Amino acid sequence: MATSSTASASTASASASPASTASASASPASAASASDQRTNAGDTSPDVGRWQHRGADGRVVCDVCPRHCRLRPGQRGFCFVRSCHDDGLIHCDTYGRSSGFAIDPVEKKPLNHFLPGSRVLSFGTAGCNSACRFCQNWDISKARDWDRLGAEASPVQIATAAVRDGVESVAFTYNDPIVFAEYAIDTANACRDRGIHPIAVTAGNMELAAARDFYPHMDAANIDLKGFTEDFYERITGSRLADVLRIIDYACNDTDCWVELTTLLIPGHNDDDAQLHAECIWIREHVGCDVPLHFSAFHPDYRMLDVPPTPAATLERARSIAMDEGLRYVYTGNVHDSAGDATLCPACGATLIQRDWYMIESDLLSAPAGDGTCPTCHTPIPGVWH
Ligand code: SF4
Repeated sequence: MATSSTASASTASASASPASTASASASPASAASASDQRTNAGDTSPDVGRWQHRGADGRVVCDVCPRHCRLRPGQRGFCFVRSCHDDGLIHCDTYGRSSGFAIDPVEKKPLNHFLPGSRVLSFGTAGCNSACRFCQNWDISKARDWDRLGAEASPVQIATAAVRDGVESVAFTYNDPIVFAEYAIDTANACRDRGIHPIAVTAGNMELAAARDFYPHMDAANIDLKGFTEDFYERITGSRLADVLRIIDYACNDTDCWVELTTLLIPGHNDDDAQLHAECIWIREHVGCDVPLHFSAFHPDYRMLDVPPTPAATLERARSIAMDEGLRYVYTGNVHDSAGDATLCPACGATLIQRDWYMIESDLLSAPAGDGTCPTCHTPIPGVWH
């Protein structure tokens, strides 16, 4: 993962059950057998899935995520937006189609150590490979209505729009870019060609081989770490904690992508002390104390309308636990919290960036006032700074 750097330098079981509602059977974590064959070698159509192989039974297996949906022509995967066409290949059906655009502060992704105060062109498509009961973008992620994808937008058109709008980054967000990874990669390349930074906002529920193709195209990522027990992941998200941890480990340790983590705290489900300690210990021991961690507030939505919003005290308790475990950059989100919105120097305690929600109130790290180090004690602060 990138450490302290400047912007100019940075261009540099699933449980078996979750897939059961797919229109085709999906066998989790089934590896390609010796008799399997790659199916898409030599195909140049940009919407053809880049990660697929033919199974021994003749069905085509999607290798994007741990669900490994096995499809025949006419069938859709669990995510709904990858399907097997008459050519016998799995296609990314949302390639070149967006569910909408918006310009946001980068802090909204959330990313607090990546070009603070800069603006991001956000867009998404439709579909998702997770099944979170608390989804806060469910109208997009669970869309079954293709009319929602009204905006046709090629990768070059998106990158050109980003330049025209004067933003510094394009974020693949609203729904998980894993399900439109081919489109995201091509858009990321078009963006980098124009000096625009690609950002992924993802649940990290991806196969490692696909991730190895995906992350090198991203300059920054916010990866959800939705909880820290397999029971929570299976019951509430329909995916597996171990799969997500493998991707976080890879992205943080083996790529140049700047990574921050987010945990949405859901009262009574993933906010107990033991789970929070375990999560923070894992982060410390596997990806290090410098990876920023955001605890954000849940509000009732989708299939968790019976759960109350996260109290401010829960966010403060989680932040306190994380800092007690040695994590250096811990934030609270979706609330006004001056302590949880601040970046502090881990050596001398000076306030380096003060935010109010997504707004920057002061910034001593970015140019022209700053150089990515604490002005008091000169400790380098990890991140990508102007
Ligand atoms: S990306 Fe979609 S089609 Fe592919 S394995 Fe995952 S859920 Fe199935």
